[in-house]
Amino acid sequence: MSKSKLQTILPNSTIGVLGSGQLGRMFAISARRMGYRVHTFSPESDTPTGQVADTEINAEYEDLDAVKEFAKGVDVITFEFENVPFETVEAAEKFAPVRPRGEVLHVAQNRLREKTFLSENSFPVAPFRRVETLEELKKSVVEIGAPCVLKTAGFGYDGKGQAKIKSLEDCENAFAEIDGQEAVLEKFVEFEREVSVVAARDLRGNFAHYGVIENAHENSILDVSFAPALVSDKTRDEAIEIARAILEKLAVVGVLCVEFFLTNDEKLLVNELAPRPHNSGHLTVDACVTSQFEQQLRAVCGFDLGSAEFYKPAATANLLGDIWKNGEPNWESALRNSSVKLHLYGKAEARTGRKMGHLTALADSPEDAVKIVCRTRNALACKTNF
Ligand code: AMP
Repeated sequence: MSKSKLQTILPNSTIGVLGSGQLGRMFAISARRMGYRVHTFSPESDTPTGQVADTEINAEYEDLDAVKEFAKGVDVITFEFENVPFETVEAAEKFAPVRPRGEVLHVAQNRLREKTFLSENSFPVAPFRRVETLEELKKSVVEIGAPCVLKTAGFGYDGKGQAKIKSLEDCENAFAEIDGQEAVLEKFVEFEREVSVVAARDLRGNFAHYGVIENAHENSILDVSFAPALVSDKTRDEAIEIARAILEKLAVVGVLCVEFFLTNDEKLLVNELAPRPHNSGHLTVDACVTSQFEQQLRAVCGFDLGSAEFYKPAATANLLGDIWKNGEPNWESALRNSSVKLHLYGKAEARTGRKMGHLTALADSPEDAVKIVCRTRNALACKTNF
């Protein structure tokens, strides 16, 4: 058998997913549609991924015997959650290939390693400093200049573990907030827009991307994404080229999302890397020939990448637990709009800020798609059907 044949993981094989959230769920749906079996591994039960997987394994990530058993039972492993401990991935890698490889996760799961990797390889990032003590924090604020953001180096997402510093006086409180954890101080970027490039790379090094997606956040949580982003061709090409070079440098096999700030003077700065399908790429499920989840599947199984072409401009609005605060949302109203697609993640408990699902709409322009998803989302909270 040729090497490439050996690397191809055929339908009816079993894919292991580390993590069990909505990204794993949508990945598992794609995998099962193409005839694969899915085993998911996480400490929780009745999870968004577990509900659609063949097997849901419940064990702590630190339980390396359980990780070994899980890895022995699958043909390839991927992850849907970047806070899986690196030791877990290392243990799994001994029994089945992990794609993207553990080193990619290692870089992306720690802001300090990530920013160091980016700046050492000449990718554009906002000025940053490593901070371990209050004295270092004060010195760094003076060097970088306020305003800044202090972020924990590990285990942060959706703005968690972050404190804004407007002046030197804020240092004590900000430092207390991160509770002695290793941290990164970053210059606060007065951005004009936030954009992302969701891209994929296969085992042979081929590259595919979904162009530039524009993102709006509410309270540091992604709220609405749309594509194509309202940026110049020059910015679009630059963002895609940066993403291509990052995936190449990290030798990613799978999907990776590069999140950017775009400044008023049209400069792109990389904010974060997510070595997996990304919330901003959810619109690819309904709007593209190949979704980001199928792309991940194709890459990790050793197939060629699919077409990332869009049928139409599209927008996604996230549905957070807040929408449930006055009872069950008005689904009839949302589903009355026949061009809107509803995605729910099977989470039983709707907590404030928790991502419960999303809506996607296609339209003739991205602006129209945004209007449709926002109008539909507003109607969910409205008890009257209209
Ligand atoms: P993060 O978890 O680092 O992606 O941060 C979540 C959100 O907080 C970002 O998408 C931005 O909206 C905001 N944010 C984070 N870092 C910065 C920064 N250095 N300057 C301005 N806004 C930021």
